[in-house]
Amino acid sequence: MPHAVLPGSTIGILGGGQLGRMMAIAAKRMGYRVAVLDPTPDCPAAQVADDHVAAAYDDHVAAVLLAQQSDVVTIEFENIPAATLEAIEPMVPVRPASRVVRVAQHRLREKSFLAGHGFPVPAFCPVTSLEALQAASREIGCPAVLKTATGGYDGKGQQRIESPQDAVGAWKAVGEREAILEEFVPLEKELSVIVVRGPGGHTVCYPPSENTHSRHILDTAVMPAMVPPDLARHAQKLAAGIATALDVVGLLAVEMFLARDGGLLVNELAPRPHNSGHQTFDAAVTSQFEQAIRAVCGLPLGSTALHRPAAIANLLGDLWECGEPDWAAVLALPDVKLHLYGKAEARPGRKMGHLCATADTPQEALQRVLTARSLL
Ligand code: AMP
Repeated sequence: MPHAVLPGSTIGILGGGQLGRMMAIAAKRMGYRVAVLDPTPDCPAAQVADDHVAAAYDDHVAAVLLAQQSDVVTIEFENIPAATLEAIEPMVPVRPASRVVRVAQHRLREKSFLAGHGFPVPAFCPVTSLEALQAASREIGCPAVLKTATGGYDGKGQQRIESPQDAVGAWKAVGEREAILEEFVPLEKELSVIVVRGPGGHTVCYPPSENTHSRHILDTAVMPAMVPPDLARHAQKLAAGIATALDVVGLLAVEMFLARDGGLLVNELAPRPHNSGHQTFDAAVTSQFEQAIRAVCGLPLGSTALHRPAAIANLLGDLWECGEPDWAAVLALPDVKLHLYGKAEARPGRKMGHLCATADTPQEALQRVLTARSLL
C-alpha cells in the first residue's frame, strides 16, 4: 500500500452533520485524527473530531487551513461548493474529486451524465424559462415533476405538475430558477445501492436498501431490499457501473426507482455516506462509514456482508414536540439500537437521530423498528 493514508494520519471532512459524525466515529475507532470544517459551532461531527475549523463552505482560506492539517480530504454532503474542493486539490488528495461533486450537485448535469453514459433515467428536459417549462410539459406529458437544478435535497425545490396549466404556478414556486422537468414515474418501490470504490478502481456494493419517504424525507430503509435476487444483482451492477463511469473514489449512493412496469431508473447520486445505509453501522461486517474511510485512504475495502437483515427509522425533530422522547422504552428492546446526532435544537423535519433494528428477515426488522419508534 505505498500511497495509503495510514492510521495516525489526519482525515479532513468538509461538512459537520451526522454523516460526518458517523465517519469521524469510524475514523477515530481506526486510530485516525479527524478535522472538520463546518460553520456551526458544536456541530455533530465537531463533537467527535480532534479539530474543528468553524467557517463557511465557500471560505477558501479556511479550506486551505483544513487541507494543511489533513493527509486526505473528503466530504459528507455534495453541496459543498466544487470551487472549494478545487482550491485545495493541488495541496492534498480530495476524494471524491471536485469533478464528481460538480456533477452530483447539479440535477441537470447529473441526469445528462447518466443519460449520456446509457444509464436508465426518467425522461427529462432542461428548463430555464416559463416558455421552456410549457414546452417541456407538452413534450414529457403530465403528471411531471419540476426540480431545481441546484440546492434541492429531501424533496426541497420540487413541484408536481398535473397539467400544463400548472406551469405558471410551479415556475414561481421553484423561484424561477434553472430546473429540470421529469416524467412522474409510477413507483413500485424506491431502492438505493451504496457502492464503495477505491483509488485503484476496485468496487464493492452493499445489498440494495428498500426505502420509504414521508414528506419527501427518508422515513425507513430496510437492507436487504425485499426484491428478487436477479433484480438486486441488476441494481448493484448499475450502481457499480455508474461509480466507475464517474470515476468516484469513496462512496456513491445511487437512488433508484423500481417502476411499476418492472424497470429500474436512476433518480439521484450522492457521493458520500447515505441515510439509507445507516443499517450497515449495526448490521454489516464493515459499515458504510468505515468503508468511506478505507476508500478515501486507499486501504483495502471491507466486506459488505450483513450479519443480519436490518431496518432503520429516522427520528425527526417533530418527535420532540412534547419534550424529550422516552429513550428508555426503546433501549429496553434487545434488538434495537439508538443513534442520536448531538443536535441542540429539534426542529420539525430535522433529522435528529435514527433507530436500527435487526431481525431474522427484512420484514421483521422493519416491523420491529416501526414498533420501537411508536413507543417514543
Ligand atoms: P428527490 O429529491 O429527487 O430524491 O425526490 C424525492 C422523492 O420524490 C423521491 O424519493 C420520490 O419519492 C419522489 N420523486 C422524485 N422524482 C420523482 C419522479 N420522477 N417520479 C416519481 N416520484 C418522484
